[in-house]
Amino acid sequence: MLATLNWRPSLFHQPQTSVKWRFALSGCRGADSLRLRWGNRLRQLTYTLGGGEPLPPPTITETPSDNPAKLYLKFLRLHYLDYEATSPSTLGVPGVQLFGRMCSCLALLGEDEDGNRITKRIPCGREWCELCRDIAHKRRIARVLTRLMQVYPMAYDVITFPLQVRPLLRNPRALALVGRKARRFYRRHGHRKVYTRWHFFGDKSNIYNPHLNVLYDGGGLSADELAAFKDALRRALLPRSISKRIGKDLVIHHQYTRNPKKMVHWINYTTRATFLDRNWDERLAQALHGFHNGCFAGTWNDPPRWRLAGTDKKYNPLVKLAQNLHPVSGKPLTWTRKPVPWALLLMEDPAPLGGWWYLLPLIRPPPELKTERRF
Ligand SMILES: [Zn+2]
Repeated sequence: MLATLNWRPSLFHQPQTSVKWRFALSGCRGADSLRLRWGNRLRQLTYTLGGGEPLPPPTITETPSDNPAKLYLKFLRLHYLDYEATSPSTLGVPGVQLFGRMCSCLALLGEDEDGNRITKRIPCGREWCELCRDIAHKRRIARVLTRLMQVYPMAYDVITFPLQVRPLLRNPRALALVGRKARRFYRRHGHRKVYTRWHFFGDKSNIYNPHLNVLYDGGGLSADELAAFKDALRRALLPRSISKRIGKDLVIHHQYTRNPKKMVHWINYTTRATFLDRNWDERLAQALHGFHNGCFAGTWNDPPRWRLAGTDKKYNPLVKLAQNLHPVSGKPLTWTRKPVPWALLLMEDPAPLGGWWYLLPLIRPPPELKTERRF
């Protein structure tokens, strides 16, 4: 193969193959060095961290004849944040993930125009990560609150799929499609603001049980209206032929409220993690990389229509931060691109704001030099 490429005259005797070409020619030097470098890590994919149970062979190792460059890109795509948002560690703590990486070791630095500094630790954000699960949940609440505070009154629907259909939904593409269909349905029925989020498992068992949570600007419906609405929703999300064949249909729970406490409770419940252990469904966990779960539809440019009350006021600073504003000065923040080790920032005595956000003390200007005046 190399000989066929070496078509240049003897003046350019060295074959000038590009890096791309070298990777494309499996079995040549580039491919060997890549295998040497990443071989161990790729092999580690076949074992879980906790139980040591061998995993079903991932697609990466299933095709050894694959182009090595593609293989490496596939590896990065599958495990991007599990790798990049973590640091190497040999400690046996809950944040340890695949490849012995530890969650939340890095942080980003930001400051407003007056030099007020702030920092945020970077969570890996995986639902099954015990270390950052609660923090990622708080940040998720703050992010959606900036929009859902425009919804008043708020309605909450939970759509559960029959047992026989669930295997079809064990696929992020199918979940995304059904979510999109549902949002379109609510928009067609005159709702201006719709938020949907999937829960993958129920509270009581680790059997896959996908159900779609929908928060939207709905109100009270009469019994007839509600029955007609549910019937139309069932027709939109599950083909009638399937429903007839299995003799089951979607179960839809509908409620609505004007009480801000209850709205925050629903937002809290909807945005929580349900995939608490990667081992419950390793294949789905791998497939969910890059899956965008919480989705908005509609127009979201209205002013807030309700306020946080009582203990929920603790989210106020986080809501400001989610809007990229400094929680004290209220001015926009600019962020450094390169993360710094969290251990270094700990030395600056950061003041916690919740959700792994911290205020950093001002950097004092150097003292002025006293110069003696001589006349
Ligand atoms: Zn994590």
